[in-house]
Amino acid sequence: MKDMNKDLVKKSCTECGGKLEYRLISQGFERGGIKVRLGGIKAYVCSTCKEIYFMPGGADKVAKAANALFELAKAERQHKGQLIAQIS
Ligand SMILES: [Zn+2]
Repeated sequence: MKDMNKDLVKKSCTECGGKLEYRLISQGFERGGIKVRLGGIKAYVCSTCKEIYFMPGGADKVAKAANALFELAKAERQHKGQLIAQIS
């Protein structure tokens, strides 16, 4: 899970050189027994090693969105459930 490098013009994976495919992905996060999931995130995924590349600055936004969901889960005491945010 990393930001796409602005110099990454060939759309190949920096880890293995594999082909990157544009996808809408979902990412799950768990912290202290609370599970949250973000869906519909635009990203490029390596077809070989499955490394995820977000748009520049995207990884930071995803982390902030996950943090917001954790805060909501704590506030509503939904410790045993799973909060899901779908971006459309
Ligand atoms: Zn790869």
